[in-house]
Amino acid sequence: MTEHILVARDLFKSFENPPVTVLQGISLSWSRGESIAVVGPSGCGKSTLLHLLGTLDRPDSGELSIDGCNPLDMDEVDLARFRNNLIGFVFQDHHLLPQYSVIENVLLPIMAFDRIGDEHLVRARSLLDRMGLGHRLDHRPEQLSGGERQRTALARALIKNPAVLLCDEPTGSLDGESARNAADLLLELHREEHTCLVVVTHSPDLARRMDREMTLRGGQLQEAAAAVDP
Ligand code: ADP
Ligand code: MG
Repeated sequence: MTEHILVARDLFKSFENPPVTVLQGISLSWSRGESIAVVGPSGCGKSTLLHLLGTLDRPDSGELSIDGCNPLDMDEVDLARFRNNLIGFVFQDHHLLPQYSVIENVLLPIMAFDRIGDEHLVRARSLLDRMGLGHRLDHRPEQLSGGERQRTALARALIKNPAVLLCDEPTGSLDGESARNAADLLLELHREEHTCLVVVTHSPDLARRMDREMTLRGGQLQEAAAAVDP
């Protein structure tokens, strides 16, 4: 049994157009129950890293192990199922589907591979209740505020109780109070569900609330220097 749910060794990633090497040897070992902030200037590769860890994109080289499996060896079909079972993703701009209601959006990860059962409906409703969206189940995303959309996206990411929850600037588009509410919920659910929570953020407030803070700079990931007591 592996203790670390998420392990990366020496990940490299470049893009060709325009040519840029974004990640230059990323290694990390992260566990369930752990929360990690990834900070760094705009364009330094935070989203690229999250996409690799979420198996939405592939590294040029390096190794990746998630829950003891190697997703880089899987074919598309196996990989889609693996990702669906283990990984929750919250995108910066929520990525809700406009033609579906709130509860349908939350149930999408189930529908991808399964029939909806009563237990799924119960969990979707209970997550949406927790998000303060119990009265919005049949609304469309366009009828929601930014904060409500982001909380819907969080409920969708959590519906399958993922071992790994990856969030790309989850509060980036929200104002102060909505951002704080979303962050409170995120951390509360992370603790209850014992996920490995990875949050890319520009917000020093949010970063400080995670167990660890890592900085991505020059294509490499480093533990942020701990504040030194005077
Ligand atoms: P961050 O999330 O830290 O702001 P990104 O990971 O989005 O940074 O981007 C890192 C760098 O990679 C940027 O220079 C960006 O322009 C480049 N990049 C990202 N995705 C692509 C792509 N699909 N094609 C070409 N360049 C890309
Ligand atoms: Mg980004």
